[in-house]
Amino acid sequence: MFKSTVIKTKEELSLSKLKGGIVHRMHMHLTDNSLGVPWRVPIIVIKGTSPGPVVGLTAALHGNELNGISNIFKLIEEIDPLKFSGTLVLLPISNVPGYLMNQREFSDGIDLNRIMPGKDKGATSDLYAYHFTKKIIGKLNYLLDLHTASHGRVNSLYIRADLDIEETRTLAYLQNPQIIVKKHDEDGTLRSWANENGVHAITIEIGNANTFQNSLINETHDGILNTLRYLEMIEGEVQDMITDATVCDHSYWIYSNKGGIVDVFPKLADSVKKGQVIARVYDVFGQVKEEVIADRSGVVIGKNVRPNCEAGTRILHLGVSIIEPETEDIPGHDDFEES
Ligand SMILES: [Zn+2]
Repeated sequence: MFKSTVIKTKEELSLSKLKGGIVHRMHMHLTDNSLGVPWRVPIIVIKGTSPGPVVGLTAALHGNELNGISNIFKLIEEIDPLKFSGTLVLLPISNVPGYLMNQREFSDGIDLNRIMPGKDKGATSDLYAYHFTKKIIGKLNYLLDLHTASHGRVNSLYIRADLDIEETRTLAYLQNPQIIVKKHDEDGTLRSWANENGVHAITIEIGNANTFQNSLINETHDGILNTLRYLEMIEGEVQDMITDATVCDHSYWIYSNKGGIVDVFPKLADSVKKGQVIARVYDVFGQVKEEVIADRSGVVIGKNVRPNCEAGTRILHLGVSIIEPETEDIPGHDDFEES
């Protein structure tokens, strides 16, 4: 028989009161749902026996982005709290209603990662975001926010981080990712709120929504362990942080103009050249209606994999290295495409 314990619901996360050398499990009451019962976020706290930083991992802030859940479970299995320094705060399911509905957004259709830190008097998603940041995220020193691509698109493993700030640059390189996209934090994201409030935070984008992808999960796990070694929370050598990651100054989506059946050619992490045909849009009779062209050279961060597409579908997420001086207006739509 597998042992499972009764998990208590807490109103506050009092990390200093928790005993060291133990894995603690709790529900955190954030707001109430329409049954009048609490929306409770599951939290696992691994508290070591000696002092150290408080590191948080959040998964499924978009309720259908699930790879990070597996990363958190791997940590729970691997970390021995008796040989651990500091505290790990693990949130496998950050957006509980979104997870239950198998959707990105909160129950009211709002994207939580656009409205952080919410409001104490506001819409249902605002309340949830407010208590999520106030009760939990504000207690951390470091945050790794685990995401994936949206449904119908695939992502490589990549990092979004502000590389101009030493702490977040270090966190990004510790992950040894395929691609890093430099991001000055967009308002409303959890990462942005965290960094503004003294919690050093990066976003790790792990593959695709609605699935567990073991190879990407394992790569992400290595990066997380590397981070814990660097912060001296577990023993061991920090792996070489001089990474061969492709660093992009900027990224944006290229869209189709026509609707129909779309075939996107480059693979993830491929380099594409300016002028290259990256996709063809066919009509339902097999005739080419549009060739989608890369307007700049860059690297493929993500791509659409759903063939049936309307006009104006996101085709390919391109990371580019330098903003060309003559390009006042950055091509593509607004770059606020955080997965
Ligand atoms: Zn996401």
